[in-house]
Amino acid sequence: MKSAILISPKVMEINQKAHVPFPGPGEVVVQVKAALTCGTDIKAYLRGHPKIPLPSPLGHEFSGDIYRIGAEVEGFAEGDAVMAVHSAPCGECTFCRMGRENLCSTIMEEKVLGAYAEFIKLPERIVKVNMFKKPEHLPYTEAAMLEPLSCVVHGIRSTGFGAMEAEKQKNVLILGPGPIGLMYLMLYKINGAKVMVADIRAGSRAGARRADRLETAKDLGADAVLEGDLQDIAWKVTEETDGLGADLVVEATGQKDIWEGSPSLARRGGTVLLFGGCPTGTRACFDAGRIHYDEIKLVGAFHFTPSDVREAYNLLASGRLNVSKLISGSYHLDDLQTAFDELIGGRGIKFAIIP
Ligand SMILES: [Zn+2]
Ligand SMILES: [Zn+2]
Repeated sequence: MKSAILISPKVMEINQKAHVPFPGPGEVVVQVKAALTCGTDIKAYLRGHPKIPLPSPLGHEFSGDIYRIGAEVEGFAEGDAVMAVHSAPCGECTFCRMGRENLCSTIMEEKVLGAYAEFIKLPERIVKVNMFKKPEHLPYTEAAMLEPLSCVVHGIRSTGFGAMEAEKQKNVLILGPGPIGLMYLMLYKINGAKVMVADIRAGSRAGARRADRLETAKDLGADAVLEGDLQDIAWKVTEETDGLGADLVVEATGQKDIWEGSPSLARRGGTVLLFGGCPTGTRACFDAGRIHYDEIKLVGAFHFTPSDVREAYNLLASGRLNVSKLISGSYHLDDLQTAFDELIGGRGIKFAIIP
């Protein structure tokens, strides 16, 4: 079967060598119908990734049809159209027992990569809790959004509000109009918040301008789109919020300078969700006075729990999210490199990869 292998940073191969995998007990093999590009894949491609030892298959957002089913799998049959995420918690470790399944001690080691391929094998733990039948009306490309949307649902819950109660946050400021930022926008919008989306020029993003992404933000209902350096954004946010600052700031860029600038955009008593991952070892500095005297809450969020995945599944199945707007086009698996080059060149939001 055909699959994309990242040999070393910037060296990717589409090879034919691998055999179609065979499912053991509890496992299934999915024939991939659509995979999606993700910022994590691009990061891994450009500079490697601490959690992805190379060479490695790549791609983790997908949907498809069950091609072969292992013994003891219940509730599914060969030929079923399914959507899944690429990891699941063990259910037994200390963190799983605390209900913090996203922090499960083996969730990252046991994750499955290789969605840029004709087939992908899913282990028992994913089949049991994080795989769903795809509703017929949902296209495969949109069903493949399950994984990133689960991360976003988890982020929203981490701020202390369920995704469905987001209206408690009046003014939401999203930093970074990438696919994740735009998903936050959609979720907060359907819950009636006033949402501002900002493209900040700072640090390594200086000069980068993603007008197409801000256009999409407007399309998706952003109440304001802001562009400029941190100072410009701070002025505009003050204007938009009657001098208060945002109730909630969502950092979705993973840039150190923007992490550091985020608390200055929140109102007194506001919350900052630091969602975009910076490389491990990065140190960020904040004004301690704002955190203490203004009681600004800094919240980290990573990955997702099975209940986040279920909520993301329900959102996609309900058709309430216009996720098709985040898919800028599609490429055949053989042209994966072109899709990556487009994204690296600053074009497109997400691309569908079709085997
Ligand atoms: Zn992803
Ligand atoms: Zn666990």
